[in-house]
Amino acid sequence: MKKIIYLSIFIFVIISSSNNNTFSKLNSPASDSAEYCIVNGDLIEGGGVKYKYLNSEVKFCCEGCEKSFKKNPEKYIGAAALWCPVCDEGDAKKELSFVNDGVKYYFCGKGCKSKFSSDPDSYLKNYNK
Ligand SMILES: [Zn+2]
Ligand SMILES: [Zn+2]
Repeated sequence: MKKIIYLSIFIFVIISSSNNNTFSKLNSPASDSAEYCIVNGDLIEGGGVKYKYLNSEVKFCCEGCEKSFKKNPEKYIGAAALWCPVCDEGDAKKELSFVNDGVKYYFCGKGCKSKFSSDPDSYLKNYNK
């Protein structure tokens, strides 16, 4: 009988110490710095795919998500965060957009949109330094 009691104490100690290990793993710095795909919310593993959209850098889990982002950035960064690349200011409207090279951009006014559409590269080069 005593043997059984000792054995169960022994097992209990093993279980509780292994639980402690899992607990400390969950709280390690590695999981604190985990990054998630801006498109589908998946955990980004192995660096993921980086893309610089005007003044902000965004990260995806794969190239498929990068494509979805470029088609409709407003859906993922939110209408309040849209940046006008002509004024270099964050007051662009989602209704005023223009697609250049597969990427959608937004503008604060019709004037900015027409300036950009006639020469996108001269505005975009400021963001690609
Ligand atoms: Zn993905
Ligand atoms: Zn503007």
